[in-house]
Amino acid sequence: MSYLRMTILASGSGGNCALLETAHTAVLVDAGWSGKKIIETLALAGKSIADISAVVLTHEHFDHTSGLPVLANRHQLPVYANALTVKAARAQVPKYHGWRVFETGGEIEVGDLRVENFTVPHDAYDPVGFVIRGAGRSIGFLTDLGYATRLVLDRVKGVDALLLEANYDLNLLRADPKRPWPTKQRIMARHGHLSNAAAAEVAARVAHAGLEHIFLGHKSSDCNTHELAEAAVGAKLREIGATHVRLWRTHQKQASETLTLESRLSDLNR
Ligand SMILES: [Zn+2]
Ligand SMILES: [Zn+2]
Repeated sequence: MSYLRMTILASGSGGNCALLETAHTAVLVDAGWSGKKIIETLALAGKSIADISAVVLTHEHFDHTSGLPVLANRHQLPVYANALTVKAARAQVPKYHGWRVFETGGEIEVGDLRVENFTVPHDAYDPVGFVIRGAGRSIGFLTDLGYATRLVLDRVKGVDALLLEANYDLNLLRADPKRPWPTKQRIMARHGHLSNAAAAEVAARVAHAGLEHIFLGHKSSDCNTHELAEAAVGAKLREIGATHVRLWRTHQKQASETLTLESRLSDLNR
């Protein structure tokens, strides 16, 4: 059987890593968790580090790259990123030479997975989102963006499943005693992160009959809850009649449930 499968190993402001697989290829999207935790959690998903073909990076922030010393240095996995991200992340693994540079706005092939990237507005050197295709199915990655540009909406329109940032609840962020005002401004700015309300807008803009799964991710542990994020996005989807969309939970310290999208290609095309 041919399929495209996703497990979010960790997602949140404290670290991000996702496993994407077909029957032949497995890649990690971002490596922002301790190498030890990534390897342990992969084992729970029935994978070992030897099964992983590559890591693809959205941007250099530590919550997306902290596992590189183990994955890149020790296990010598190829790491794909655009040139400015490589330049910025290189300092974390100065002895590593396995970088593979992709062009911003372009696409690469890793085994039978095709990884398309597109620019997102976020306060990193050259941050991107992804649409990953395999077995005739597609999954979008949309985290770490201040707002959804027309380009972003265009690129993720038509995906079968989407990991969508729902970083904070505006009231909780405003009331948070731990974050100074400049930090709050940074988070809320156009190069910061998507609030629950902004995620709900994006979900409504990209919802279509074929989009059946939205994983709500990159939640702030202090300024959001699963319930608030799901309520905001769920209400908006109901408002537009998109009741076929299932909202999936992602977690900071444990893997999500695994989504398997079965191939819709005919046998001839496999
Ligand atoms: Zn992040
Ligand atoms: Zn970031």
